[in-house]
Amino acid sequence: MNSTFYTVTPLYTSSKLKKEQNLNIYYKMECSQPSGSFKIRGMETLCRHHFARGKRSFVASSGGNAGYSLAYVGKQLGVKVKVVVPKTTSVLMIAKIKNLGASVQIVGNVWDEADQYARKVAEETDAVYVSPFDDPLLWKGHASLIDECAQQMPQPDKIIVSVGGGGLLCGIFEGMKRNGWMDTEVITTETMGAASFYKSYHAKKRITLDEIKTVASSLGAKTVAKKSLELASDFKMYPHVMTDEEAVNATRIFYEEYNFTVEAACGAALSVPFFYPELISEIEHVLVVVCGGVNPK
Ligand SMILES: *Cc1c(COP(=O)(O)O)cnc(C)c1O
Repeated sequence: MNSTFYTVTPLYTSSKLKKEQNLNIYYKMECSQPSGSFKIRGMETLCRHHFARGKRSFVASSGGNAGYSLAYVGKQLGVKVKVVVPKTTSVLMIAKIKNLGASVQIVGNVWDEADQYARKVAEETDAVYVSPFDDPLLWKGHASLIDECAQQMPQPDKIIVSVGGGGLLCGIFEGMKRNGWMDTEVITTETMGAASFYKSYHAKKRITLDEIKTVASSLGAKTVAKKSLELASDFKMYPHVMTDEEAVNATRIFYEEYNFTVEAACGAALSVPFFYPELISEIEHVLVVVCGGVNPK
């Protein structure tokens, strides 16, 4: 099949940042995906893979954009989707997922508990278990984002990308590899209360956070995918952290320029040119992955 459920998203150059700070910023607008985030790319790749092998039932463990994107793709494919969410998931998000025809079950106080249950249900019902970030099929799908950028712009000097569990980052690495962008530096962004990649990178081993303390709920993975750290050693990296306030304020400034509402998780990446311009020089071309997000605060 040639046509996809995800869309080729626009790439905008920021006139505001050029004029006010003389920076060359390119925004990859994943916020304009039909599911509001990049996650649809990976979910579509994953679902089509299993669909082609006869699978018609999928179980995920995310009350956020992963579950929402899976529900969207599942509806398009006409397959059964069940999303197991922890008690903390908002009523609005549950309604949005249900509106796409998926069933929602509330289990546990935190994601880990919902995830354990989702794995068990998938096994018992011969359904496909769908991780929100830790699956090579997701990374393969996310990599299409860089394929598009390679058509839309010259090779950037830097890429700024948010990290939750590291699925998006793995996709970015994969896309960079296959497009020969090996000397582009990667600035990863996380809020301080969800700095699992930052801490692991500097410790040179995977660190599991005791708790997640951030408004950027989509960044709240206590442990990042192993592959994200392995692949990071092949690239020039600059892991960066900022406050919740900076991430949220960046979403406001972005809204003023583009009229798109994005999550604080996305604001983490957006915050770099606004609040940490010293990480970028005026001669560099910088790609910011506007990962999007439809989770309410
Ligand atoms: C999922 C998500 C992230 C983090 O992606 P990971 O693959 O978990 O690293 C960041 N921002 C938004 C909006 C997301 O939905």
